[in-house]
Amino acid sequence: MPFVFPPQPIPSVAVDGEDARFPVRRVFCVGRNYAAHAREMGRDPDREAPFFFTKPSDAVVAGGTIVPYPPLTKNLHHEAELVVAIGREGFRVAEETALDHVFGYAAGNDLTRRDLQFEAREAGRPWDWAKAFDNSAVCGTIRRVAATGHLSAGRIRLEVNGTVRQDADLAEMIWSVPEIVSILSHSVRIRPGDLVFTGTPAGVGPLVPGDVCTVVIDGLDPVSISIGERVNP
Ligand code: MN
Repeated sequence: MPFVFPPQPIPSVAVDGEDARFPVRRVFCVGRNYAAHAREMGRDPDREAPFFFTKPSDAVVAGGTIVPYPPLTKNLHHEAELVVAIGREGFRVAEETALDHVFGYAAGNDLTRRDLQFEAREAGRPWDWAKAFDNSAVCGTIRRVAATGHLSAGRIRLEVNGTVRQDADLAEMIWSVPEIVSILSHSVRIRPGDLVFTGTPAGVGPLVPGDVCTVVIDGLDPVSISIGERVNP
């Protein structure tokens, strides 16, 4: 079947040590999955079931990218996150078998226009414009489960220009990877190519043009971006 114009390329992420890439289908993100971050956002972490938002697949960018400072915001924030790469289809997956659906893991950065997020929250509006902008889903090289094992603990930290801003342990996640995958799959059918950003620990903060921002997770390749000039100064 012909297209009226050439389709856009399929977004993809590098896989450690391999030429073949991981084709991205959907990008899911978990909100407020570390207690200390929920508190810094003004929420009670004990009362909430996990909730999800999404980013477009073509918002995914790799390490080494210069991310232009996005439009509409004066408060671009970093959020260091463990990214789960889904490799097998599933629907209503049990927690006990949820890890069978995981292809691998990557270090990620859920870039956020924080001022737009707070405005949306106050107005009861969707988060999309705060979260789903171009280049907003930073995802490092995926490492296969065979190489990493499953990650339920390990240091996660984020540095801006060499200064540590976020420093926590994956074990502090309120909802674990198997719980997240299972709960997500009760809402939508998960498919190979899905990425799940699993939430950020405390210490989120602003990025400005010229910053170099690096996420480091034990056992994974670090992912580093630079912030470019403002799109609309
Ligand atoms: Mn996040």
